[in-house]
Amino acid sequence: MCQLFANPVYQQDQLTGTVIVLLDVTEKQERETLRREFSANVSHELKTPLTSISGIAEIMKSGLIDPNDVPHFAGKIYDESQRLIHLVGDIIKLSQLDENSIPYTAAPVDLLELAQNTRIQLENPAAKQQVTLQVEGEPVVIEGVLPVLDEMLFNLCDNAIKYNKPGGHVWVSVKHTPDGPTLTVKDDGIGIPTEDHERVFERFYRVDKSHSKAIGGTGLGLSIVKHSAAYHNARIELESAPGKGTCIRLIFPPGREIHGQEQTD
Ligand code: ADP
Repeated sequence: MCQLFANPVYQQDQLTGTVIVLLDVTEKQERETLRREFSANVSHELKTPLTSISGIAEIMKSGLIDPNDVPHFAGKIYDESQRLIHLVGDIIKLSQLDENSIPYTAAPVDLLELAQNTRIQLENPAAKQQVTLQVEGEPVVIEGVLPVLDEMLFNLCDNAIKYNKPGGHVWVSVKHTPDGPTLTVKDDGIGIPTEDHERVFERFYRVDKSHSKAIGGTGLGLSIVKHSAAYHNARIELESAPGKGTCIRLIFPPGREIHGQEQTD
């Protein structure tokens, strides 16, 4: 899409011509549309739990509920508040990545050690889902921003557990490959239909909205993964098929450089 600007040119009060500027505003337009969609989605996603909390609090305030039901209602308020906390946290992380304003510096990070720590963090949710989480590979040290890499791997493993079935598996592997340091998260869970492969990295896109919400997703996990990978100049490869499972590979450039190096704190 182009925008046209026409400026008259005068010489000694005489109109001598017109300067015409044609500006391609397609990218700007797309950015604006994305921004509007994001704001609309954020408002909707914030409103739902807030409406729920407000409704439950109103019922409790009325004094009409059985005292035995108080823990049940309080539990609902707690769950909805947790959802809000996760959502707001994810929105903040995304905007920091977007604006290149990550408040941490880059340092050497061993991806294998990171994967082992992620496995420990997710031990309980994995056990609850009856999913086995395994880590294999070799020490691979890259120059990276630890909290960003940590969040990225956590989101991938968390998804691999959430979108799985009892008795399922998640394999995390860390390897040097000819393409560069490679971090792979593979599961034998429900998989993603081919037509959704591109869209799952979009903000708030979910393959099955009600299922994702029921299991506590904010819809921002893979978007954070995409931005975190870009922040480290890493490439993402996705292979997935319904009923077969999902494999996501993050390939860091060999001898990689940090994007956003100018940060000094
Ligand atoms: P959510 O918070 O809903 O999990 P994400 O951005 O992390 O959001 O993922 C987007 C969608 O991609 C999910 O809602 C789910 O439908 C799908 N998805 C992500 N990871 C997996 C996976 N490992 N297996 C199957 N589906 C997945």
